Amino acid sequence: MALPDYRSILTHLATDQGFSAVRFADGGPFGMPENSIMIAAFPCTTEDEVSAPASSGNTSAEESLNGEGACVAAIAPFARRNYYREAVGRLKSVAKTALTGFSSGDFRIFSNSTLSEKSIASSAGLGFIGKNGLLTTIECGSLCILAGIVLPFPVTNDAPVAGGCGSCRSCVEACPTGALGDPAAKRGEGERIFIRERCIQYWASRFEVLPEAVASRWGNRLYGCTACQDACPFNREKAEFPRRARGPVTGKLDKALPVSFLLGKTAEELGAFFRGTALGMKWIEKTALQRNAILAAASRTLVDRGAGAEWRDAENLAALVAVFRDTGLAPFVQAAEIALSGR
Ligand code: SF4
Ligand code: SF4
Repeated sequence: MALPDYRSILTHLATDQGFSAVRFADGGPFGMPENSIMIAAFPCTTEDEVSAPASSGNTSAEESLNGEGACVAAIAPFARRNYYREAVGRLKSVAKTALTGFSSGDFRIFSNSTLSEKSIASSAGLGFIGKNGLLTTIECGSLCILAGIVLPFPVTNDAPVAGGCGSCRSCVEACPTGALGDPAAKRGEGERIFIRERCIQYWASRFEVLPEAVASRWGNRLYGCTACQDACPFNREKAEFPRRARGPVTGKLDKALPVSFLLGKTAEELGAFFRGTALGMKWIEKTALQRNAILAAASRTLVDRGAGAEWRDAENLAALVAVFRDTGLAPFVQAAEIALSGR
């Protein structure tokens, strides 16, 4: 008996759940010869484009913190909701409807997993891997996360997309730390350079001493660097992408949080505050977030240079930062010295 047209059914259901594009790959090249893989892009353009009620399951993270006049640290759009968890939840609903004849052990839903998600997506024509190393889709550029379902039956591989970055180098030029290589250097067609140790995003979750070039160009980020994505022509005009399906929004956070709030909590308290959000994930060290917050304050000039402090909480902040310096923990000491010296 012929199988139902799973390709159409899954594509229809996933699109209905807010995925911007859906493709299929043969599992063979990815070590799964018996399987095929549905791979989909879930837009993370984040703003309140969704008319559905928002809930992180953590009311404290949804509290509106009064940051008016205070020094704040910014959260990148992709981290303002728990898009990975949300995408998995939505794919569960897709699988429940589409794969009724199969048990949950027959298929596997994934996102932010150990699978080579970008390679799968590029092989299935969901997009191409740009010079910034990110999967870039036609529908919403790189402003998306990847999620998919390992399926227990074969589906023909979709064709890879034609084209790619071409001669564009905007992300290379926009990267504040040179993590995508020297903007002036010649680059072969398709050649990608990524110097992990220079990438702000790489360090954002790690509580370690930062390379000087990274620490000094941290900017006001609490979490998430998007400079290379902001520069990408494939992302322009995509920010408004989704007419997202109605449904629960997961792990919503504000665009920024007051630094004094972040430094006024213990790492454990911060973990509890962020539970259910993207910043609550285990691999994001909460001490790293506090270090980032100190650097964010440094970028706004924490010391009074004679013209007066910029924010109403500057004096209190300086005292808080000094407490972190006095812990003697090297990443805190490094950030605090930058902040307190006004570098
Ligand atoms: S995330 Fe930021 S630091 Fe990393 S490559 Fe992109 S622009 Fe550069
Ligand atoms: S900015 Fe240009 S070079 Fe970089 S990923 Fe986008 S298209 Fe490619």
